[in-house]
Amino acid sequence: MNTSISQHLFEKAQNFIPGGVNSPVRAFRAVGGSPIFIKSAKGPYVYDEDGNEYIELINSWGPMILGHAHELIQKAVSDAIQHSFSFGAPTRREVEIAELIVSMVPSIEKVRMVNSGTEATMSAIRVARGFTGRDKIIKFEGCYHGHGDSFLIAAGSGAATFGTPDSPGVTRGVANDTLTAPFNDLGAVQQLVDANKNHIAALILEPVVGNMGCVLPKEGFLEGLRKICDEEGIVLILDEVMTGFRLAKGGAQERFGVTPDLTTLGKIIGGGMPVGAYGGKAEIMNWVSPAGPVYQAGTLSGNPIAMAAGLTMLNYLNDHPEVYTQLESSGAKLAAGFRASQEKLGLNYTLNQIGSMYTLFFTNQQVTDFPSAKTSDLILFGKYFHAMLNRGIYMGPSQFESMFLSTALTDEHLNKIIEANEDSLKEILSL
Ligand code: PMP
Repeated sequence: MNTSISQHLFEKAQNFIPGGVNSPVRAFRAVGGSPIFIKSAKGPYVYDEDGNEYIELINSWGPMILGHAHELIQKAVSDAIQHSFSFGAPTRREVEIAELIVSMVPSIEKVRMVNSGTEATMSAIRVARGFTGRDKIIKFEGCYHGHGDSFLIAAGSGAATFGTPDSPGVTRGVANDTLTAPFNDLGAVQQLVDANKNHIAALILEPVVGNMGCVLPKEGFLEGLRKICDEEGIVLILDEVMTGFRLAKGGAQERFGVTPDLTTLGKIIGGGMPVGAYGGKAEIMNWVSPAGPVYQAGTLSGNPIAMAAGLTMLNYLNDHPEVYTQLESSGAKLAAGFRASQEKLGLNYTLNQIGSMYTLFFTNQQVTDFPSAKTSDLILFGKYFHAMLNRGIYMGPSQFESMFLSTALTDEHLNKIIEANEDSLKEILSL
């Protein structure tokens, strides 16, 4: 595969952009080699600058549930740009999308639009702190909630990939207010809560983790957290930036039947445009300015183009329950194919999969938290990644990421992925 143009662009980029990329994990450091530079994408495919075609498993890290450049969203955006790009003033579509989100995610009574997942989580903990009058938060090792200072403690995704979970530049004061527990460990959470009585404002987690690779909550874990939060007056925040509108219409909270106090949402509600949102109980959200005293603002928040894309996307998801049936069956089909290949090849690597999210870990241990995710053979993952890429499959370039399926993938694409997976395993293990 020729990727000379991508390589050239990456060399040039390093002169002008730190590390040559605008978000760390894109640099391929975890898997080695030079990143491919994307030129365009349509449906289930992405195309790089050298003209190579790949089947897409990143899907902009989640939002492209319907595949790339969906006609309806394209039309909504081209219609919207006829009326200018930003007003910094209220618009009709903001009201419509807020009403729609409230109807789709039952725990959300009021919602505020922001511009990224990072802003959503930062704002959610600020309002939780304002509401409770407490300072500390609990997060889970290996969960990633964007690059807000409070969350760069034992963080997943790129922060885990680069081995710098505690970033320089985060003050000790901020770090002291972030307590961390192992994912799926209710006992550890209870201990933290007992040791910090009346000091914990919020507990935040990815209900299904995407950022240490795909990791599922054990039975009773989410319910147990809800109970602890109720007993202690802690605001439970589910970060559904990846899982929202993906694992079910109402997100992971609908799928697992757990009701958070606040929810953070991301890129999916912009149909891929730069959007995030946080919302939840009116009692808490009414603390947000100008209704209440907790300040949070944004010139570009509720951007008209992003709202047009998001509204079209969410309306489509709301009106087409078959999207979720398809995502479920595609995920199940892929997992069955991967398992059959492993059996055939006498392998027992751990595959975590739920609906349209999955990660293959190069370990035989069950992966239920960050330490177990880290038992994966990362060198082998790097080889696997490149073997897949060479076969035209574009995966997240780190073991600590989930893959995301879209409805644009047909059985034919799924079979290609299954075949590429088997051939790649054979190649890297010399089987
Ligand atoms: N929360 C979660 C669960 C995420 O996966 C991410 C990013 N992938 C974020 C927050 C941060 O979102 P953004 O990159 O849009 O700031």
